[in-house]
Amino acid sequence: MKYKLVEIFESLQGEGRNTGRPCVFVRFAGCNLACPWCDTDVGERFSMTLEELLNEIATYKAKTVVLTGGEPTLLDGAPELVAALKKLGYYIAVETNATVDADWLQFVDYVACSPKAEFPEKIALKKANEVRVVASNDSVIEFCKKVKDLIEADDYYVSPCDHDGEIDFATAKSVLNQLEGWSLSVQLHKILGFR
Ligand code: SF4
Repeated sequence: MKYKLVEIFESLQGEGRNTGRPCVFVRFAGCNLACPWCDTDVGERFSMTLEELLNEIATYKAKTVVLTGGEPTLLDGAPELVAALKKLGYYIAVETNATVDADWLQFVDYVACSPKAEFPEKIALKKANEVRVVASNDSVIEFCKKVKDLIEADDYYVSPCDHDGEIDFATAKSVLNQLEGWSLSVQLHKILGFR
């Protein structure tokens, strides 16, 4: 079995509770949603066996691995990968769109989810460490309330929408002012210009 991949790179986590943490980002190919504004390339560029993937991750300094996508909960071979990374002492974080409540998520260290307001009926995840919702407009308020009922999390974040490089902080602030228990998460990598 080979893992279908888009890219592997080392950087700092740019958003949420782990902002600033050095991480190896492993972006897997494929997604089960088609968000109209998606700017993530989810097409397969290369594939690796488990051993090849672990060897590649070991070439980086960071000891946190972020499994992202696309949608990593769709991944064949996820339990084997998580078990192997755990054995090697990595801190494992997952970034998911909240549409799959995969059993193996209970074995990772951190689950960050970004449910999409365009697909409220697709939310299946019940528990995460953090939830992030993009404040595309004021109507996202009702979605945030629904998300909070559906997904138990330690932190709930609203992220400003990025309109072709223009960060819409005003809408995020307006949304936050109408919610309880939510706070702001900026995409620091976009503001500071790192990857
Ligand atoms: S869930 Fe993420 S990767 Fe998938 S289509 Fe939406 S924005 Fe793109």
